[in-house]
Amino acid sequence: MSDLISLIQITPDPLNWDNAPEVIQVVKKCPACKGVGNFKTAKGYHGSAAGEFIINDCQRCKGAGELKADIIIRWTPNEPITE
Ligand SMILES: [Zn+2]
Repeated sequence: MSDLISLIQITPDPLNWDNAPEVIQVVKKCPACKGVGNFKTAKGYHGSAAGEFIINDCQRCKGAGELKADIIIRWTPNEPITE
């Protein structure tokens, strides 16, 4: 199995003065259907159903073939811990 490795550089946006949450989106191939988006199964092996297929959308990616991760980064001041 091979996969593209993604690196995310996490750096605060210099214009985000109110520290609003920042969202990074990463899209990967669906591991359930391997990016196809559906599953094709034979309807039958003999008689009139031979050669016919049933195609069902992948339940995990809903037929898109990809999954998207929303990574939310919330910046806060690094205040010293006092006791
Ligand atoms: Zn899928």
